[in-house]
Amino acid sequence: MAPSDCPFKIFWNENFKHIVSVDNRPIVFLDMDGVLADFFGAFSNFAKVNHWKDLGPSELAQTLDAIIGSDFFGTIPKTWCCDELIKMTIDYAGGYSILSSPLDGDEENCAHWKRVWINNNLSPPPSEIFIERSKGDYAMHKGTKNILIDDRPHNIYAWEKQGGIAIRFQADQDKLEVISSAFGQITDSVI
Ligand SMILES: [Mg+2]
Repeated sequence: MAPSDCPFKIFWNENFKHIVSVDNRPIVFLDMDGVLADFFGAFSNFAKVNHWKDLGPSELAQTLDAIIGSDFFGTIPKTWCCDELIKMTIDYAGGYSILSSPLDGDEENCAHWKRVWINNNLSPPPSEIFIERSKGDYAMHKGTKNILIDDRPHNIYAWEKQGGIAIRFQADQDKLEVISSAFGQITDSVI
């Protein structure tokens, strides 16, 4: 599909109505779970296991079922790098927005508690919050490639496929140099 035929254009301006790109710099979208919020640690604690990978398929499904309708997403601790990552992003882009997927089958409740979490944990607050699964729809705006920082490969793939710049970052494995170095490379390639 050619970009001009893209149906996303229909609601594009709606999506971005509150976001002001500073000096035409890209908008940086930050993922929550696995980046700003220690979802995997909280999930393991909730399931009372050392690591979520210790759960078998049926235990995993039961734990996810137990989360549905609960305040779980409002109670997750911040990752070790949450505050610093936000500071780095603001220094680089002048601000940030949140782009986070809801839990399957718990969309409305999950979005509510994610907004509570953002309100309680993130300072300064994001320009805009999107709790949506189709992340690639936000990859470009008015010809500018936006940046996504996310831990999941399929989100990275979708973002790049729709023309954006994606940085894969896993808070439980990576150092913040992954992001500072990527920001530096993006700036160098634009100049
Ligand atoms: Mg994530």
